[in-house]
Amino acid sequence: MSTRTIRQRVPALEVTEGAGVTVHRSIGTPALRNLDPFLMLDHFGSNNPDEYIAGFPDHPHRGFITFTYMLDGHMQHRDSMGNQGELMPGGVQWMKAASGVIHSEMPRQANGLMRGFQLWINLPANEKMSDPAYQEFSAGTIPEVTLDGARVRVLAGEFNATRGVINDPSTEVLYLDVALPADGAFSLPLDASRDAFVYVFEGSASLAGDTLAKHTLATLGSGDTVEVGAGPDGARFILVAGKPIGEPVVQYGPFVMNTREEIEQAMSDYRDGKLVQTRASMSSH
Ligand code: MN
Repeated sequence: MSTRTIRQRVPALEVTEGAGVTVHRSIGTPALRNLDPFLMLDHFGSNNPDEYIAGFPDHPHRGFITFTYMLDGHMQHRDSMGNQGELMPGGVQWMKAASGVIHSEMPRQANGLMRGFQLWINLPANEKMSDPAYQEFSAGTIPEVTLDGARVRVLAGEFNATRGVINDPSTEVLYLDVALPADGAFSLPLDASRDAFVYVFEGSASLAGDTLAKHTLATLGSGDTVEVGAGPDGARFILVAGKPIGEPVVQYGPFVMNTREEIEQAMSDYRDGKLVQTRASMSSH
């Protein structure tokens, strides 16, 4: 048994997205272009409506999955396939854009705290042009495990024999939201073949003796166990892992394909109104 240590520490960078939304980006920055199969991690969190009210009006995606986890606030999602989703505190949304989706993600509040994460998960070549799919689950449906003082919400994958609500067949994503009390500890076995990261959003954490501050992402080195400790103020973090795809990544904004030609195709399809090819299958609870 070997414990995973911190391979790379990535403090989140403040960037402006959508129509003028402030987000903290860690994966998808010059310090960490991607962490196969993950392409981007944005953490949004603000009490100031000026930083989120403009939202994300209609925009396209092709070639990957967006995974949105709301902590606080209310966003409304609408897409080209006819789905309308209400993202409320504690809820989660998995949107497989694949061959093409145009959607909007707009705040449904005029003030107050808006907080959450959006993770982009890559798709293997043979699924990039497959049909879109959509899963959405409200807070009450997400299993929560309490173990040795740790409170773990299982969004995707499995923890302590409890399965999460999101089914992510291609890269078998594990996505946990973990809250630890002061000086608490958390551990889980994690297949050595998986790329994994921890992102701390409250308090501070430590991995194998190395401290990890708030708003910092740590990529994890090799090993088959993850052990995270909390600092004196406790810790809250997401732990995410997935099966690497191992294929070339060519990205142009919201299009992520394997070759430059496929990116040019995506751009011309979008220009010609042909980006959206199929309606998604919808499952929501
Ligand atoms: Mn989007």
